[in-house]
Amino acid sequence: MKMYNHCDLCGKGGYIKLTAEQSEKLSQYHMGDGLVQELFPELNPTEREFIKTGMCMKCQKMMFGKAESKLITER
Ligand SMILES: [Zn+2]
Repeated sequence: MKMYNHCDLCGKGGYIKLTAEQSEKLSQYHMGDGLVQELFPELNPTEREFIKTGMCMKCQKMMFGKAESKLITER
């Protein structure tokens, strides 16, 4: 499935592709059950930040010096 989010800094929207298992964990996360790094250890920091805050790769690159993901699609 696709999880849509948007970047608070630049307003850009995008989505990340998640497996069925990850989607279930996402509902868990949204209910406040667990931390993003515990629920998604297989995702990289850029992807976890996107799930948490929606920050796009460009803004993450600006903030953290690097950002990389094959799963995130920006629009
Ligand atoms: Zn942005």
